[in-house]
Formats: sequence, structure tokens, C-alpha cells
Amino acid sequence: MKKVLTGAEIRQGFIDFFVQRGHTVVPSASLVPGGDQTLLFTNAGMVQFKDVFLGTDHRPYTRAVDSQKCMRVAGKHNDLEDVGRDDAHHTFFEMLGNWSFGDYYKKEAITWAWELLTDVWGLDKSTLWTTCFKDEKGEIAADEDAAKFWHQQPGINPEHILYFGRKENFWEMADTGPCGPCSEIHIDLGAEYCDKKDVPGHVCRVNGDCKRFLELWNLVFIQYNRLGPTALEPLPATHVDTGMGFERIVAVLQGVYSNYRTDLLMPVMETVRELCGQTPEERDANITPYRVIADHSRAAAFLIADGVVPGNTGRNYVCRMIIRRAVRFGGKLGLNKPFMSQVADTVIQIYGAAYPELRRNRSAILANLTREEERFHKTLAEGVTQLNDLLAGVKSAGGATLDGRKAFELYATHGLPMEITRDIAREQGLDVDEEGFRQAMEEHRAVSGAGKAFGPMGGEDVDTFRAILEEMMKEGKLPSGTVAYDPYSSLEVEGEVLALVRDGISLNEVTEGNQVEVILPKTCFYVEAGGQVSDTGKIVSMQEPGWEIQVEDVRRPAAGIIVHIGKVVKGNPRIGDRAMASVDAHRRRDIMRNHTATHLLHAELHRVLGEHARQAGSLVAPDRLRFDFTHPDAISPEQLDDIESGVNRDILEDYRLKIITKPLARAIEEGATALFGEKYGEIVRTITIGEGKPLSYELCGGTHVQETGDIGLFIIVTEGSAAAGVRRIEAVTGKAAYELVRHRFSTLKQTAGLLASSLEEVPGKTKTTLDDLDQARKQAQRLRQELVSAEFDQKLNNVAQVNEIPVLAMVLSNADAETMRQMTDRFKQRYPSGVVVLGSAVDGRPALIAAVTDDLVKRGLQAGELVKTIAQVIGGSGGGRPTLAQAGGKDAGKLHEALDQVLPYVKSKLTAK
Ligand code: ATP
Ligand code: MG
Repeated sequence: MKKVLTGAEIRQGFIDFFVQRGHTVVPSASLVPGGDQTLLFTNAGMVQFKDVFLGTDHRPYTRAVDSQKCMRVAGKHNDLEDVGRDDAHHTFFEMLGNWSFGDYYKKEAITWAWELLTDVWGLDKSTLWTTCFKDEKGEIAADEDAAKFWHQQPGINPEHILYFGRKENFWEMADTGPCGPCSEIHIDLGAEYCDKKDVPGHVCRVNGDCKRFLELWNLVFIQYNRLGPTALEPLPATHVDTGMGFERIVAVLQGVYSNYRTDLLMPVMETVRELCGQTPEERDANITPYRVIADHSRAAAFLIADGVVPGNTGRNYVCRMIIRRAVRFGGKLGLNKPFMSQVADTVIQIYGAAYPELRRNRSAILANLTREEERFHKTLAEGVTQLNDLLAGVKSAGGATLDGRKAFELYATHGLPMEITRDIAREQGLDVDEEGFRQAMEEHRAVSGAGKAFGPMGGEDVDTFRAILEEMMKEGKLPSGTVAYDPYSSLEVEGEVLALVRDGISLNEVTEGNQVEVILPKTCFYVEAGGQVSDTGKIVSMQEPGWEIQVEDVRRPAAGIIVHIGKVVKGNPRIGDRAMASVDAHRRRDIMRNHTATHLLHAELHRVLGEHARQAGSLVAPDRLRFDFTHPDAISPEQLDDIESGVNRDILEDYRLKIITKPLARAIEEGATALFGEKYGEIVRTITIGEGKPLSYELCGGTHVQETGDIGLFIIVTEGSAAAGVRRIEAVTGKAAYELVRHRFSTLKQTAGLLASSLEEVPGKTKTTLDDLDQARKQAQRLRQELVSAEFDQKLNNVAQVNEIPVLAMVLSNADAETMRQMTDRFKQRYPSGVVVLGSAVDGRPALIAAVTDDLVKRGLQAGELVKTIAQVIGGSGGGRPTLAQAGGKDAGKLHEALDQVLPYVKSKLTAK
């Protein structure tokens, strides 16, 4: 008897067969299609080759073989409703494929398929059937070539070669894109597998809709690009795209006739059985929940490994939905606590070798599953109760369908996905308006902007990276167990991409536009420390097809690991690609200048201010440096000058830096400056500047220039207090210093231009100009007063009389308070007994002044009261002495009106007595 092959052997056997026929092994693409917005999930092997078929992408091979991860749970290909009901449809499954890109065509594809199935794997030829395309509308040519080649296969029964129409034998990935006629291979499992024996008129046949005939393999001959419902355009070349259901062929070769009984899924079902404590007989009598849980936990594990975590919309909704659906089916087996992480662990054991992303992300997979189950348990019971009420309502109203909006409300408030609502409705003979659900969801998303999925929780980061490190070591990719760190000797480093992490999940591939964290075996990027900021730069693929990641930051998420954080700006980086990482050299050199200048500044502070001026914090960035130090007093401009010119003197000395690593104890003994609160290892890096007794000797892990002359120029921009007893200096060097000088020069030149002087004459000329201005202002003031008094003198000759007392009320133009006061004096000189009230507005602000001679005060007339009364008219108030008072106001336009009240006021006061 022939040995029964394991699933892993069958997958490998398929690949080996085609490798022997000149095919290149291509790894499975991610379940999330790269750069394809039209597709939620990879649903067939051809997805990753779509652009090759269209002629817009080229590969270094024309024949390929692969096993592609597929998900059929949305869009054109959605098999969710079959999962649990049959033995041959999954949400997630593997599709084995061989590919020709403008190379071989129908003859080889058919011959090799027959050879592999019958010769290599020994399937009984009499059980195999094949189908070819014949358009029922007669618009597209029938595929007589395919039929001809099938007839040539040794031992084939010619009566088993059939023709079918568009639905069965014209393959399309989606509503547009590459497509073509196909030729399928079906297997007759035997009459006993027919599940429609009781259906009147049922005939067992290929595509006859019973379980006796099973489609195994589809050979697609890609020759068109579909542009729309009726528009097909021929492609520049013809291609072969085949897809064999991996689980199905394994079931056939293992003689178990159910995908779930293969060594791929049986252990997963066994884990479920152990968890709920049923016997094998009980399981077989109640198989649906087993199938659903096995299928869905496998799918969820693969989804999470590809970065799709449970969430509210899009792909994340699907991940949430299948986890929740499995949880509800778990309930049917009495599993009322989170169980899926245990089931998924079995999945990881079975598939981890072929798909290492499962192992790398084990902790993220298990944690996400449990968290999602816990979330769902909180609302499940309430949601189901509510749903049952709604369904009862539908039934009593004689309806058959639950309103889509109501179904959406159940999702929005109780987290019940439509698919579960539909399961429950169907169990009661009802249905759900899916279109209505989708519409409500779309509207809700538009209103709430809730497009964002829940990312992984904080704190998982460290675990994820530890798991990645472990996996890399196991695979022998990082023998030392740590990413090598050397930001000192080079600004470029080459290496293989070891990991690509997104939202805490390690992916095989990322696509253009993605934010990603990249791990390489070594790095030359400086990781922020000691005040020096991290490097930026790029990572570029060293092979075709090219890609580029713009590195915006680097970090150390766990001991031994350094990750480059950035965005994919071109192409689709994959694990295993060779790449070159390079630091932005200009930026780095600016940083180095600032770092060495910081050491010089520290030394000059000691010289000018004293040894107490110690570092209390620092920032070394590309555009500036900031240095905080302890010092109790303000720093005088002379001291600051001394410090700045000291640093520039050190720069011009062009000292060569000595960078030496040595034991910490020795460095301290030699007098090296160590920073407070900084942790040092046994061996430290020391930076020495200056000959003989060094100018500066510090412990420092930062990057520095080779000679101080490289700094160029040092300019202090600000100095001030940072905290009690701590001063802060900000300074610039190199390019930034030059820019600053240039900017200041240009300001000076502009000023000189305005003053029509040379640069040297600017201070003298400015001083003369300011003196002249002062003079002119004083003169203007004098002239204005003269004008006002001339106006006033005229009025003095013509003063009104109230009860024989002279009373003057007038508006002066543009007189300030001082001028108005002088005018009241002038009035009193002329009239020893009398009342004067003046008003004026300067810059739109009105003011009033009133003077009353002593004799009239004695008769009850008060300047303060007077001014207060009339100020109300201009919306103000005021006061002062009985003889002299002032008021301000808001409404300058009413000054005349206010002054008109003076005569009646004086009259009323004087006659009242
Ligand atoms: P079926 O009619 O059985 O649903 P299909 O016509 O949808 O199959 P293709 O799109 O031609 O299948 O996919 C290629 C192969 O992938 C099929 O021949 C089958 O073996 C396998 N396959 C398709 N869908 C599934 C699924 N949901 N689960 C497991 N295997 C599948
Ligand atoms: Mg199908």
C-alpha cells in the first residue's frame, strides 16, 4: 500500500514537481493585497501577479510556483455561508498554483496537471473529469484547444471531457482585471457522497451541485483584461494561472473526503473537542460548530499575522466578525469563556513551519483573540435577546426579512455582526436585508469618521519584539541575538530585511504608503541618547523590483533590538530582501557639529563662570543646540561674549578629537566629566579635546566631528533662565550659524540702504537720525501749542456772561491735557473770577478740563461736580479738586454737546443760591 502523504509533504510535492519543470518558487503574498484598493483580501493566487498579466510589472522569471494564502469572505468571492455546511469551502484556504507569464500555455499546463495527479499522486484516472469553456452566448470563442489537449492525455476517458459556459468556465478575479477561459479538473468521490439523493430529478454530474463531484483544480488561461461588464480587451501576451484547493487535494490523497479530517484541520477540531469535553461520536453528530470554529480560528490567526486585527470597518470588521461568529458557535458546544487562543495555538503548531509569520506573531494573535472574545461576551447575551425580540416582531407581522438598519443598530450597540444576525435569523426561517445593513454602516462611518481600527494595545510591543528576536535567532538570522549597532564608523550599511512590523504585528510584506518598522541585522543610525537626536535617512532595496523606505526615526523597543521607523515611499518591501540603509549625511554632520560644540561650550562655561557651571540637560539637534547648566546669577553681556568667542577660538585651534573606550574607573580617575543621573557601563567611550591638559574630557556615546575646525562657526542665539539656579543657552553652528550671520548682514544692509550710509556708519547715522527726530517732535509740539493758544486768545476776548460772571466753554483742536491746563491758567489770569471748561480729542479719545475760581467755589460751584455731570454726555466720568477737575470719555463726537451744557449748569448753580 502507498504511504499516506502528510499535508506538508503534499504542499512540498506540488512545489518540487514544478521546480523540476523550470519554475521559480515564489512566497505567498499577504492576505492584504499590496497596493490594490479594489480588493479587500487576496482571494486567489493571481492577485499578486495581476500587474504582470497586465504587462505593467515584470518579474525576473517567466514560470512560477507557489502556495497562496486566500480569503473568500467578501466581495465577488464570498464562501462564508458554505463554511460549516460543507467539507470543501473555507474562509481561509491555501491555493496551490503554477504560473506561466507569456511562456508555456495550454498544452503544458494540461499535460503537467494530468501527470501530477495521475502519475505522481496516483489518482484513479477513471474518477477524474475535466471541463472546457464554450460561451453560451456565442460571443467569446470556445476553448477547443484545451479540449484537444485533454484528449491527448494518456488514459483519460474522452467522455469525461465536457464543455460549460461562462459561470463555470470563465474565470475572473473581480469585476475588472485579467481574466480568461478556464479548464477545471473535478473528481468523482463516489455515488455515496451525493447529498441530493432524495431530491426529485437530481442527476449526479460535474457542476451538478451535489457533493459527489468535487472541483479540485482550475487551470485559467489568461488572455483578456476586463474593463467593464461587456468590454474585454485582449492582453499583449497569454498566460497560465492555475489554482488547486490545497485542503481538497490533501483530503483526497489522505482518503478522508473532508478537508476537516485532514492532518491540517483534524488536530484543530480535536483541540475544540478536548476543550468542550465531547466524545468523537458527539462531535460527529454535531459537526457544524466544529467546522466553523476550526475554519474561523485558522482564518483569524492568519489575518492577525498579516496585520488585520479586530476592528469596526473594512478588513478589521471581517476579522472581528469571524472571531465573533466562532464564539457564538462555541456557545453551542458549551464554550462560554474565551477559548480561541488555545485553538489558534494548534493552528500555529500545524502551520508555523510553512508560514513563520504565525510564530513571530504568536503573542499578538493569542492576545487579540482573547481580547476580542472578552469584548464580545460582554454584549453577546444582551444582543441576542434583543435580536430575538426583533425577529419575533417580524414573524408576528407576517414578514420574512429583518430590516437592515435594525441589524446595523444591533451591531452598533451590541457588537453583533450582520453575519451572526443572519445565522440566527436563518435558524428561525427568516432572513436579513444585507444591503440595508451595508448602507447603514456606510452612512454611520461617514458621519462618525470611524474608519480607524483598534490597533494593538500598548505594552504588547516589548513582547512582540522579543518574539521576533527569538524567531530570528531560531532561523539563524541573528546569531548574536542582537542587532549590531555602530553609528560611528559609517553612514551606510547593507543587510537582509529581518522583520517588517506594523501596529505591533510582524509582516512578510508591506506596501507603498504603509508606515512600518524595519529590523536589519545591523544599523548605522544613531538612536537618541545623551541629548543627541536620532538619525533619519532611507532604506533602499538592492534588488529588483526596487523599493524605498523613508526612515523618520529609530528606536530601541526591547533590549538588543533597534528598529527603523518610516514610510514606504516606493514598492513593496519583503522580509529577506537585501537592502542598503543610509543615514541622511547632511543632517548627521550638522548634528555632529552641534555635539562637539556642546562639549566646547561646557568647557568655556567652566573657564568663564567657574567649575560649578555643570551640565543639567542638553539637546543636540541638526539645527541648534541647547545647553542647560547650573549657575545662580544672570550672565552679563560681557561674560556671554567671552564664552562665545572662547568657543570660536577653540574651533579655530582645530583640535583633533581623541575618542577612546576605556574602563569607567580609569576615566573617572583621569578626571573625565561624567553626567549626573546618567548610567554608564563598565567600559565607556571618552571624548578628549585639546592638547596637554585637555580643554574638555567627557564620557559620551554621541557622534562627533574629527577636528574642531569642522564646526565652522559658533553663535549664541539666546541666554536665559531655565529653572531656579539653572541657565539655558541656545546656539547654532556650521550652516545654521552661517545662515544666521547672513540673515543679520542682510538686515544690516537694508538698514544702511534706508539710512543711505555705509555699514560702518549705521550706528552713528542712526543716532543722528534719532536725535533729529526728537528735535522735530519737540518743535511740532511747540507749534501745536502756539496754534491752540492763538485760537484760545481769540475766544478770551469774547466770553459769555452768566449772572455777570465770565464763563468760557469751548473745544480746542488737538490739545493734550497739559496744553488744556495751561489754557485754563491763561483764562484765570485774565478773569480773576470765572469758569472755564475746555474739551479736546487726541487720537479720537475725548477729554475735558474744568477750572472754577476760588470765589465761585465759595458760592457753591465745584469744578469736580461740573466735569462729572457733563462727562456723562461723552460716555465718561472724572473728578478732581473743587477748583480744577478733569474727565475722560469715549464719544469724541459729543464734545460740543457736552460743552453746551456748561452755561445752563453754571446758571442753575448760581441762581439756586
Ligand atoms: P467552487 O466552485 O468549489 O467554489 P471555485 O470555482 O470558486 O470553486 P476557483 O475560484 O476556481 O474555485 O479556485 C481554484 C480552486 O481553489 C478550486 O478549484 C478549489 O479547489 C479551491 N477553492 C475555491 N474556493 C475554495 C474555498 N472557499 N475553500 C477551499 N478551497 C477553495
Ligand atoms: Mg467558489
